[in-house]
Amino acid sequence: MNNIFSKRMLHPEKPSLEKLIVPVFIPHKGCPHLCVFCNQKRISGTAGSPSPEDVREYLSGAFSSGRPATTIAFYGGTFTAMPGLEQKKYLSVASEFVSKGLASGIRLSTRPDEMDGERARFLKEHSVKTVELGVQSLDDSVLGKSGRGHTVGDAIRAAKVVKDAGLELGIQLMAGLPGDSREKFLHTVSETVRLSPDFVRIYPALVVDGSELADMWRRGEHVPLSLFEAVELCAQAVEMFESAGIRVIRLGLQPGEELEKSLLAGPYHPSFGHLVRSRIALRKMLAALENYEGDSAEIVVNPRELSVYKGIRNANVRELSRATGKKIKISAGDAAPGEFKIQL
Ligand code: SF4
Repeated sequence: MNNIFSKRMLHPEKPSLEKLIVPVFIPHKGCPHLCVFCNQKRISGTAGSPSPEDVREYLSGAFSSGRPATTIAFYGGTFTAMPGLEQKKYLSVASEFVSKGLASGIRLSTRPDEMDGERARFLKEHSVKTVELGVQSLDDSVLGKSGRGHTVGDAIRAAKVVKDAGLELGIQLMAGLPGDSREKFLHTVSETVRLSPDFVRIYPALVVDGSELADMWRRGEHVPLSLFEAVELCAQAVEMFESAGIRVIRLGLQPGEELEKSLLAGPYHPSFGHLVRSRIALRKMLAALENYEGDSAEIVVNPRELSVYKGIRNANVRELSRATGKKIKISAGDAAPGEFKIQL
């Protein structure tokens, strides 16, 4: 068999950043109000916020196993909207683990309208390396309908402030928010590329019990994306970000029992990220096969990426066969990570 095609298609597997993070959930701490889609207690599976002393105990346990240098992350609230003294207490506890060399730094998430130069400098002085901004959308009508209480201008200003302070910038986006559309979301993605964050996370909006979105959905005022639509949209977004050199470190919420119990509707899948990566792989393989005739083709991929290329339960193999009329085989071989070869 001749190797007639070799194409770089996926970013090589990177060690999952999530595995290098010790998350500390502070559900709704500092949040000025509830955004319509949000119920952090259900999403994170954490009922209340830990005190700084609880955090010390939790981190002592988390680092006792001698795991490699890890970032401590405060998630689930609006960190910089907490009273300054409270922020200081949490950061002092986390800094103890950074000073001992157990953690490499601190990251936290916050809202764009709760970030300014003074707060960014304060974070920098307290061992914070990364700020994740919950931007969600760069369309003012979507932000309004989602009850965010901030504007696109706030997000643009906050992104600049974080970068100017020398902090790493992460941006969180949501697909399928109230009032959003495919065009608006892709516009959000291209505008986010212009902000040049260091990484992004993309979450499809889910309808979680106890959120205002659940009431809107019950009243027929909100129709969530289907799983297919969400995967398609996120696949396009990932391609746009990665072609601009921006890492996508998370796709879809972390699966969990509490989330699954409270999920009412929306494009949830425990392996959402895998579905998106498989969709991207499918598109690239289809494009590559367009130029080749013959009744069959074998696609050789890196062994570590076989399941992404094949798709869940061989979905990509079936779709490639259907779309091209060829007998398709996808196998593990000597392809480099992120590349594939077509052999006829
Ligand atoms: S989305 Fe963020 S800002 Fe809004 S309520 Fe949830 S944690 Fe707070």
